[in-house]
Amino acid sequence: MIVDFHYHLMPRMTETSVSMLMPLIARAADIMGRRLDMEALKKKGLATWADPTGERLLETMETAGIDYAVICMVDDASHPGLKAESVQKGNRMVGGVASRYPDRVGGLCGIDPRRPEAPDMLKQSIEEFGVIGMKYHPDYGFDPSGPESYRVLEVLADHGGILLSHTGPLTPPSRARLSDPMRLADLGVDFPEITVIAAHMGAVDWRPWANLAVFQPNFYGDLAMWDTLAFGHYDLFCRELRDIIDLVGPSKVLFGSDGPVYPIAEPAGKWVQLIKDLPDRAPRGIRFTREEVDAILGGNAATILGLG
Ligand SMILES: [Zn+2]
Repeated sequence: MIVDFHYHLMPRMTETSVSMLMPLIARAADIMGRRLDMEALKKKGLATWADPTGERLLETMETAGIDYAVICMVDDASHPGLKAESVQKGNRMVGGVASRYPDRVGGLCGIDPRRPEAPDMLKQSIEEFGVIGMKYHPDYGFDPSGPESYRVLEVLADHGGILLSHTGPLTPPSRARLSDPMRLADLGVDFPEITVIAAHMGAVDWRPWANLAVFQPNFYGDLAMWDTLAFGHYDLFCRELRDIIDLVGPSKVLFGSDGPVYPIAEPAGKWVQLIKDLPDRAPRGIRFTREEVDAILGGNAATILGLG
């Protein structure tokens, strides 16, 4: 079973929102040594990334051989144009897509705890819209273990939900100090009911994440954005992933594509295949077992999500 634990469902795309994502893609393409026609890509993004009904998601899953996807919304209270009302519209949409395909899709709402109504937004998203948890982007300017966040996490804990929280640096204005995996350390103590997934495992500096993952039973990480390293510097990716598995065990790592934006230079299906092929293709001196690969690609996620 293949599970993508990190996919963004976009309610709509504008010229500005597409342009804002371009530097991220350009950087990834650079590391991967790919030349991309950025203008053509912008047009493609504008035409195809918005997916309010989830039809494109299902198409992508079909092509990539992904059985189940966890889709998320992102909220940013520091964005003056983004009001709570329209965030809830997006959260309703995510819940709607998940309920339309209950065997294929699970939904995470986007919540920024700086909003005064954040706890109610989460409550409504879980109870009315049917999401199974939420996505945080602390690097937009809040502390995931601060008092504002704790009000929201109490609601999440009451429902035994999942938190997918961005970790690792991104281009400014992203504040990397706030997306340090160690900022999530208190959650495992104060909210043991919550399954916490550190998106990207903290990226290049994954060791603080690993340090926590060893000791906190409900603390995981996903491989979203690691495809850049995997396609750009395969040997290094294999060494890093081997070290991660040796240090924390194979049960803590979850596959993620960060689609539909991120798998541009290489589609999600090739990312799945690269991991599938690790037991046969890993460089000399590095070995992966089929069991490890199966756990990462879906076994671990299936356990978390209670999938058959
Ligand atoms: Zn993401």
